[in-house]
Amino acid sequence: MAGDVGLRRTGEGERHCVECGLAVSGRADKKFCCDSCRTAYHNSRVRKMNTPKNEVDRILAGNRRLLTGLTSDGITKIALADTRMKTFDRFYYTSAQVRRWRTTVYCCYEYRYTIRHDFLQMV
Ligand SMILES: [Zn+2]
Repeated sequence: MAGDVGLRRTGEGERHCVECGLAVSGRADKKFCCDSCRTAYHNSRVRKMNTPKNEVDRILAGNRRLLTGLTSDGITKIALADTRMKTFDRFYYTSAQVRRWRTTVYCCYEYRYTIRHDFLQMV
């Protein structure tokens, strides 16, 4: 039935909570046994929907943290092969701008850098 999406039924007229499986009583369209199950179910759905975004945010935050560390240590140029750069993912940035001579300036939030000949150079 169209109105029963996600609702589990085991016996005649017997309904069970979509989250925990306990019996549900009350309104015919009620899907959850309590508010905490309803909240847990919706939070879990939102978490699943945001997974790709969270992954990109996590990588960008890691890159930014690394660039912040380099800046505070006064490092303006570093080899991508440097051990300090092993968590840096060069394919994730917040924006990019192609300049003259095909130099691309990448941004990771407030940090700007170029990557040439396997070196990252802060701009
Ligand atoms: Zn429940």
